Amino acid sequence: MFDLTGKVAIVTGGNGGIGLGMARGLAAAGARVVVAARNQDKSRAAVAELAKLGGAAPLAIAVDVTDEASVTALVRGTVENCGRLDILVNNAGTNIRKPPHELSLAEWRQVLDTNLTSAYLCSHAAHPELKKTGGGKIINIGSMMSIFGAGFAPAYAASKGGIVQFTKACASAWARDNIQVNAVLPGWIDTDLTRQARQQVAGLNENVLRRTPAGRWGTIDDMAGIAVFLASPASGFVTGTAIPVDGGYSIQG
Ligand code: NDP
Repeated sequence: MFDLTGKVAIVTGGNGGIGLGMARGLAAAGARVVVAARNQDKSRAAVAELAKLGGAAPLAIAVDVTDEASVTALVRGTVENCGRLDILVNNAGTNIRKPPHELSLAEWRQVLDTNLTSAYLCSHAAHPELKKTGGGKIINIGSMMSIFGAGFAPAYAASKGGIVQFTKACASAWARDNIQVNAVLPGWIDTDLTRQARQQVAGLNENVLRRTPAGRWGTIDDMAGIAVFLASPASGFVTGTAIPVDGGYSIQG
């Protein structure tokens, strides 16, 4: 039910953080993973690590997810090298932490392009290939900011709220193609992105520890299981959902 042998998965931002945690899960379940990001040194290191997990030989393809031509080349390169595409994880993301009155239009666009328009570009490019294989899986990465707001994250919160609604639209449009589209809403996970946030947002570490019922930050390996579930036949009748993976953060009053 959770076997991904023979499946091919693109993970954007798969060279580090949550993307790497999900890529580890998919590779261990047998999938061939395409690590899709900009920094090729990081991508090569991720591929070397994933190669030890047992799936078919992983590979890296350079992409800028904000660029349509680059995304088209990613999907084309995947199918040329691997013969098919079954799973797309839209994980690449960024944040610029400023209150709305200090955020410039260029900064707004950078966050929206990287976090939300990228999911449209990658899903749009992947859809014909997923359809060709008789069905597929798209996993979009939202955030606690898909649910809550924060004064320091206006563009980020808008992009992550948008991810949930975009997920529902695609799930609805492509259900008859046997393509399941779901979102994962991670809680506070220890990655480069949040290490930077801990430096920029006073009291963040203490607040996360106090508010998370599990009493700890998530690790990237906490993200592997949900990726395998949403990428596998086990979730064949699950579509359009947004599943928190947050140690209980979102149920705490
Ligand atoms: P990281 O900063 O560790 O990873 C971000 C990844 O995105 C990197 O692999 C980076 O690779 C890639 N990336 C960024 N911009 C682009 C681009 N233009 N084109 C291609 N790849 C790009 O952050 P996280 O692992 O923490 O974040 C991953 C996702 O999870 C994001 O969507 C984030 O919003 C979300 N998230 C994270 C949470 C957390 O607590 N950490 C909580 C909730 C959501 P490269 O630089 O090589 O391109």
